[in-house]
Amino acid sequence: MKELHVMVIEDHNFQRKMVVHMLHTLGIKMVWQANNGKQALALLDEKQARSVEVVLCDLDMPEMDGMEFFRHLSKLKPGISVIILSGMEDAVISSVKKMAGSYGLNLLGAAEKPATLEQLKLMLDEYHCVSPNVQQYASTLPASFTLEDILRAVREHQFEPFLQPKVEIKTGRIIGAEALARWRHPQLGIIAPYAFIPLLEASGNMEELTFQMLKKTAQACRRLNNKGFSIDISINLSLSSLSDTTLADRITRTIVDAGVDPHHIILEITESAAMTNVAEALENLTRLRIRGFGLSIDDYGTGFSSMQQLSRVPFTELKIDKSFVTDCDTNHSLRVIVESSIELAHKLKVRSVAEGVEKQEEWDMLKSMKCDEVQGYFIAKPMDVGAFILFCEAYAAVNEEEPKVAAQCGVRY
Ligand code: C2E
Ligand code: CA
Ligand code: CA
Repeated sequence: MKELHVMVIEDHNFQRKMVVHMLHTLGIKMVWQANNGKQALALLDEKQARSVEVVLCDLDMPEMDGMEFFRHLSKLKPGISVIILSGMEDAVISSVKKMAGSYGLNLLGAAEKPATLEQLKLMLDEYHCVSPNVQQYASTLPASFTLEDILRAVREHQFEPFLQPKVEIKTGRIIGAEALARWRHPQLGIIAPYAFIPLLEASGNMEELTFQMLKKTAQACRRLNNKGFSIDISINLSLSSLSDTTLADRITRTIVDAGVDPHHIILEITESAAMTNVAEALENLTRLRIRGFGLSIDDYGTGFSSMQQLSRVPFTELKIDKSFVTDCDTNHSLRVIVESSIELAHKLKVRSVAEGVEKQEEWDMLKSMKCDEVQGYFIAKPMDVGAFILFCEAYAAVNEEEPKVAAQCGVRY
């Protein structure tokens, strides 16, 4: 940890000195100090302090508070790592965490003041654990691809599904997976969907990618079934494609031609603000349901997935958005939202799925709320089909011996 360059921003003299002292104890020599956000920004603009990699910041400070500082910091040093030090209650810290993430800062953690040496060490260790994937994504901002680049890649079939397991809480078994699109770029490696989906959607070019995903996902489903894993796979469907009334038939054909029964496929749908052809969309969705596909209302609770949707589409699953699930163990409002969504699902007799489960405490909370299935980094990150098969094999072996351990701490990616 010796080479790390850190800045501490805290108006309270004694507390700032305490933190600096602890950082020195952890072997960090390069520590800059500031009394408030303004001073910190001035320092960060100077040559010597430009090398700062991690910023520890109080929230409540005179002149410029932590929130305003984060806003300026995100422009000055996009993607820099931050740690929040605060005496505020959990609900406030939780909303600042979301804000920092939305500004594109890399949040390593938050500690109640006074922070302990152990807490600081754990959060700084996170800095060294940033996965290579995250670093890779960070280097390929969406702006670096033109629509031309992306369309060429679609023509050259460079996209493939990465699978993320869905686990049934009651049994701890993997019973499904969500297929998430990844671009295997010949030079840049694996690229996440935010770099290509918005551009494809906006230009009306999602169709080709959707069908490549359907085909490759069905092939993966077949491979899994042949290996004895009875797993249902979920695929995201862009609502813009639902206005063409031939869609249901074309999807069915693609899945059946790959040798897969539509009962093994769940289609996830988010209502987009642009949904105009409601009648055509309903015709397609009802037809897909009749053919045996599962239908999931995705991102439930966010602006685009509404109760109105629930009342008019024959859904089989309600997927609670990760923005409510992550931290539902510590944030009271989130807990209430998650709990009532699960109840609603049960009353409507559809399955409840929570996405974005990142830690044991969230898992325990969801279990006590009788949520049916969970998905999230706590179990595994999305991975390519080969890795997913190996994961299922290892997981099944552990789950047989110690059913609870496998899901909760045994085999994780
Ligand atoms: P989504 O449908 O809400 O998918 C869940 C996203 O949450 C995925 O991001 C997944 O990697 C991420 N995730 C899963 N577990 C956790 C967790 O524990 N913590 C956190 N922080 N995140 C977690 P990803 O793969 O980057 O996909 C982003 C979005 O792109 C998806 O959001 C979906 O809306 C869209 N997308 C991905 N593939 C496709 C596709 O083939 N077709 C369409 N139409 N949209 C797609
Ligand atoms: Ca989804
Ligand atoms: Ca979501």
